[in-house]
Amino acid sequence: RGKRAFIAGVADDNGYGWAIAKALAAAGAEILVGTWVPALNIFETSLRRGKFDESRKLPDGSLMEITKVYPLDAVFDSPEDVPDDVKANKRYAGSSNWTVKEVAETVKNDFGTIDIFVHSLANGPEVKNSLLETSRKGYLAAVSASSYSFISLLQHFLPIMNPGGATISLTYIASERTIPGYGGGMSSAKAALESDTRVLAYEAGRKGKIRVNTISAGPLGSRAAKAIGFIEKMIEYSYVNAPLQKELLADEVGNTAAFLASPLASAITGSTIYVDNGLNTMGLAL
Ligand code: NAD
Repeated sequence: RGKRAFIAGVADDNGYGWAIAKALAAAGAEILVGTWVPALNIFETSLRRGKFDESRKLPDGSLMEITKVYPLDAVFDSPEDVPDDVKANKRYAGSSNWTVKEVAETVKNDFGTIDIFVHSLANGPEVKNSLLETSRKGYLAAVSASSYSFISLLQHFLPIMNPGGATISLTYIASERTIPGYGGGMSSAKAALESDTRVLAYEAGRKGKIRVNTISAGPLGSRAAKAIGFIEKMIEYSYVNAPLQKELLADEVGNTAAFLASPLASAITGSTIYVDNGLNTMGLAL
């Protein structure tokens, strides 16, 4: 039987989640995605109208099929956690069963089990504020959406993951080196995500024979990255200073995710894997 993957955090064809979905599809996996509720409508409409057909092309010429798109808001664990203003919001009221617990239940009812879980989402409402100017609310929101969301999703998906399965999240080197401009507590959120990767690898490994790894990716001009405001500068910096002076392609991160999810990586867990043209290794570039 082919493997089944759930990728949380796909809402267009520009980000890492999309590229990971494609690499997993090219390797023969069935693809389910979780899309942030406010972005759902436009994503589904664009898919239906063929707007992504060019970027759905796989190496063998076929088009990636997404078996099902699930609405998801990973900052809410169950319906009791949803505040009234969100419930009443038109974009949310139009969808149902989008809290983490409900999505896992729906996937279970639809398909029974999955083999691969990918977390490719982050949000930091105050990302443009330096850490020194970040509010408590902004900081906690960044950690809730970008770090705890992984714990919550794993908590709810682990029971439906087949032993031998793998999970992957996406992190950024701002967790361990200072990147001015990556603010709002996002650097803290990534540090938490990387630490949690180690602890959850132990817990999920012992509990369900599931591997947990995170990819520390170099800069990519995704929708989320453009919201930070200086992604072009980060890409240019990487180009100038990294050992490999080439553009970093989302597909290169996708391919690494496919490797990590495969039996080829059967002894790799709890690791932060750099896919950044080697930029993380540099102290001084000449
Ligand atoms: P992206 O915009 O493609 O992906 C982010 C996704 O998160 C979006 O689809 C958005 O709708 C979704 N999202 C936000 N809040 C959510 C919520 N509460 N519930 C569910 N979904 C939610 O951008 P990306 O850059 O590909 O980001 C994917 C991952 O890669 C993130 O973890 C990001 O931090 C990480 N990353 C990105 C870069 C980069 O330069 N782009 C570098 C390193 C790591």
